[in-house]
Amino acid sequence: MLVKSIVFTVIACVSTIFASESVYAQGYPSCFNVQGIPVTYFPNPNVNDIAMATTAPNGSPVVIWNPNIAASLHPATLEFFYYHECAHHALGHPLGSYGPGSERMADCWAKQTMMQIGVITQNKYNIIIQQLLQYSTPNIDWPNGHVRTSYLNNC
Ligand SMILES: [Zn+2]
Repeated sequence: MLVKSIVFTVIACVSTIFASESVYAQGYPSCFNVQGIPVTYFPNPNVNDIAMATTAPNGSPVVIWNPNIAASLHPATLEFFYYHECAHHALGHPLGSYGPGSERMADCWAKQTMMQIGVITQNKYNIIIQQLLQYSTPNIDWPNGHVRTSYLNNC
């Protein structure tokens, strides 16, 4: 019994580490920016948000994501953020058009892409909405999660 629970604990720890390291690296379709260049996702615990779509010093499109924040979110919400950050690149925002409307458009692109490729279910969508309601912070496009999810529901 003790051996079983130790084995279980070890497996649980390993899978947690694996999940936090690989959450943006495996299992999702590749992401390309507006110029067709592949986007690379890098973990960085110093990012002051769940993730940020930006351009690396060498000009490559990248997403820097915070593994500590990611660990606190449901996998469905993380998947949504994978597409939300990809959307910024697909729509060319890091190349100079990060402005009013860009966050809203990224959310909408994420939802519609997930629908088009068949990875969204009603249950997953409900979880995403619940977490966006709970965790969204104010930005140029919404003052809170209620406004954000209202946009998303109507997109
Ligand atoms: Zn965004």
